[in-house]
Amino acid sequence: MQTHRRACHLCEAICGLKIEVDNNQIVSIKGDEQDPFSRGHICPKAVALKDIQEDPDRLKQPVKKVNGQWVETTWEDAIELACEGLFQVQQKYGANAVGVYQGNPNVHNWGLMTHSANFLGLLKTRNRFSATSVDQLPMQLLGYWMFGHQLLITIPDIDHTQYFLMLGANPIASNGSLMTVPDVAKRIKALQARGGKLIVIDPRKTETAEVADAHHFIRPASDAAFVFALINTIVEEGLTRMDRLAHHSEGLYAALGAISKVTPEVAQAECGIDADTIRQIARDFANAGKAVAYGRMGACTQRHGTLAQWGIQLLNFVTGNTDRVGGSLVANPALDLIAAPNSKPGSYGRWHSRVSQKPEALGEFPSAIMAEEIQTGGEGQIKAMVTVAGNPVLSTPNGQQLDKALAGLEFMVSVDLYINETNRHADVILPTTSPLEHDHYDLIFNIFGVRNQAKYSAATLPKPQGSLDDWELMDKLAACYSEKIGKPARPSMPPQMILDMGLQLGPYGMASEQKLSLDKLKQHPEGVDLGPLRPSFPDRLQTADKKIQLAPAEVLQAASNYVVDLLNDDKRAGAEMMLIGRRHIRSNNSWMHNSERLVKGKNRCTAMVNPADAARLNLQDGYNVRVRSRVGEITLPVEISNDVMPSVVSIPHGWGHDKSGVRLQVAAAHAGVSCNDLTDEQWLDEPSGNAAVNGVPVTLIPVAQ
Ligand code: SF4
Repeated sequence: MQTHRRACHLCEAICGLKIEVDNNQIVSIKGDEQDPFSRGHICPKAVALKDIQEDPDRLKQPVKKVNGQWVETTWEDAIELACEGLFQVQQKYGANAVGVYQGNPNVHNWGLMTHSANFLGLLKTRNRFSATSVDQLPMQLLGYWMFGHQLLITIPDIDHTQYFLMLGANPIASNGSLMTVPDVAKRIKALQARGGKLIVIDPRKTETAEVADAHHFIRPASDAAFVFALINTIVEEGLTRMDRLAHHSEGLYAALGAISKVTPEVAQAECGIDADTIRQIARDFANAGKAVAYGRMGACTQRHGTLAQWGIQLLNFVTGNTDRVGGSLVANPALDLIAAPNSKPGSYGRWHSRVSQKPEALGEFPSAIMAEEIQTGGEGQIKAMVTVAGNPVLSTPNGQQLDKALAGLEFMVSVDLYINETNRHADVILPTTSPLEHDHYDLIFNIFGVRNQAKYSAATLPKPQGSLDDWELMDKLAACYSEKIGKPARPSMPPQMILDMGLQLGPYGMASEQKLSLDKLKQHPEGVDLGPLRPSFPDRLQTADKKIQLAPAEVLQAASNYVVDLLNDDKRAGAEMMLIGRRHIRSNNSWMHNSERLVKGKNRCTAMVNPADAARLNLQDGYNVRVRSRVGEITLPVEISNDVMPSVVSIPHGWGHDKSGVRLQVAAAHAGVSCNDLTDEQWLDEPSGNAAVNGVPVTLIPVAQ
């Protein structure tokens, strides 16, 4: 029996695991109490790594479609087939005729992070899409606009704050997002034990709200109004604290001027939180000494996600909590992608989409417009797709429309471990080694950690003969495609070499006391603690003038339009019912629904409604309801609960595994329905183009039993 230590890559918390292996079989998976960051914490998903490893549905060989049936094939054949199909489409229709979608698991897989560009970059298409625009795009854009780099995202210093104001986030269920925070429950308890407070603002009384000191229901998509009113109260009552960063910022008065009319009374009419409560939260926040505001999924994936996140940054700034211990800080990771020679700080509006003229943001278009770019004829129409570790049919708005669009493609390639609802339309699927069969270093989530740390995970299980790691596959695809287009392949080095160089040249590398290198990390498989977050502005700012840009032009324009609407009663009229999502600790990505231990038990795919709505709409607990939006309808069981505010229905995402041709047997037996058959591809955040999957207007109709 051997014990392997590694980081769990399934979610952003990167918990340390201790995996016992006997004769290449996983015997047990436990939390690693020696991991200095996660301190033994794990969630139920980690144990499901065994299920993924042993899943009979997981692809171990490339497959191609022959007469509508999947047949296994060799790597040589699959790679040639993939490249030739894409090459033919680009020859016939041009570079943009190939679209690329990269799903969320890309950022949890270091081989894809380091080597995808070697292949995907050769395609030279502007039709790039990813899970970013169904998630955190507003935060990355604001990082770029305000701090000069899309990865300069401020992290709440949960371990030192005295007042944590949390909007649209549920870390007890998610284990943290853009706040890598393993063991969050203990950290919240520690905050409360030192006399601090956690205040949760959310349309649902979430698992995190349950442990908070206070929870306030907020109408979906109104977070910006609430935060603007907090700022105005602080300004009006003279509670601002302009510290050293005042000299390293631009645009404060323009920013404050743009939102000055949003009084607590104006905000109350929009968000449903009464004006007195707003004023009290503002005073408590400003007087706490060390306070931090943080918003996540619910505060991003809504019509005013960029404004909500901007307001959160402004609130931290005017109270002196930006770049302050106990406030919001940026991490100083061991491998610093921000300082890397080929680092991409960000971009916006360099070109626009063909059909609805959406601006490019960070090199991509909104995933919500993928279907229209496939379905609308003319020059530049997408005729072929490459999907890498993604399932946008279940995870992007109007999934039914995308499903139909994909069925009409001339060619499709997928890099994936499963045949899912999206790549059932593919012609060839290329599966790489399983997560436990390759090594790992978290390139992204160390940037968002609430402490600085580093950990290298060696492969837990031997690599099966003939299999390819993700980076090897990407390099083979790149070599094949380079040959087709008559270009020499880009020089490439293994991820381990990139990591070693990055560590040695990084802030804890050879010029520092720690002298980190890959060899040193290998000697510490439990991970190396690199200390708490520390103030680093203005040095770490990447803006040209080393100043925080508090009033980016695109944001000011959106704010001015928003404030006009807020002051206009007609425009403010809300929908009768609004859809929001719901996270569960045993769910993350759709493929995790193929683990029996993660889906068993009570049906979680329900429409959660408040008892007042249930009575008004004649809905009964456990009985079906039809939920309808502009784009579609789904039918699912009602769950009546006081935990959701009136006029809101909460439905989790990632379900809807009842499509033909999918090879996810466990998931199919617990199919549920997809909330993205309701979300609307035209319902986007301006200016980012992020999908507004929260706050979608819907109607509920009881189904006769
Ligand atoms: S919280 Fe995330 S990283 Fe930690 S064990 Fe669970 S899935 Fe893995």
